[in-house]
Amino acid sequence: MNNLQIITKTVSHFGQNARVLINVDEKIICFVDPGADLELILESVDLDNYTVESIFLTHCHIDHGGAVKPLLELLEKKGKPTPTLYYHSKEWIVGKNIENYAKQSGFDEGSYFNIPNADVNLDDMDTFNIGSISAKLLFTPGHAPGHIAMYFENLNATLLGDFSQEAPSNICLSGDALFRESVGRTDLPLSNPQDLVKSVQEKLYTLPEDTLILPGHGKNTTIGHEKTNNPFIRPLLN
Ligand SMILES: [Zn+2]
Repeated sequence: MNNLQIITKTVSHFGQNARVLINVDEKIICFVDPGADLELILESVDLDNYTVESIFLTHCHIDHGGAVKPLLELLEKKGKPTPTLYYHSKEWIVGKNIENYAKQSGFDEGSYFNIPNADVNLDDMDTFNIGSISAKLLFTPGHAPGHIAMYFENLNATLLGDFSQEAPSNICLSGDALFRESVGRTDLPLSNPQDLVKSVQEKLYTLPEDTLILPGHGKNTTIGHEKTNNPFIRPLLN
């Protein structure tokens, strides 16, 4: 079974968990939610000997996609092939307003950039591959209209960087749909609180209880822990 290294780096003014997924045997890299602080994200990444095949955004908020543009520019400067950018079409409008939002928030110019157009919309995709390693995609709107979580089953993973721990075989990158004992905000433009509850109950709480959740913000958790302890989602009535 191929080994997937998952490196977490907490970045941006919002403490977002950017992740680098590395298919070690096939030397393929996928960046998930490179939101800001590119130098930090790239600290332990070997761009010279690996191919960056893809950039995947769970959604297009500033803290998840604000560094896509400089990442693409850096790869181009290094003469590397251009990776494929994936996100849901409902996120497009959000990604085009990042620079405005950063300015309004008083962040330094050059901290965050508008997200380029997706090469592939995730709208109709059920699976996502990093070489021969395959993830299921879970459409989980609510916090953001086109939010997608990524679920790996029977994975042989190593968790590195921030919040590193021993990895179980089922791992879900939950973006901002589900946090440890919390959920993503639903008071933002295009958020929908009912959709979020439904997404968590129907798409995430139906995963195996031992599934490790790697959230977009904060510490890791498990589905089992959240079903018992998350005050924002009522338990599923069987
Ligand atoms: Zn968000």
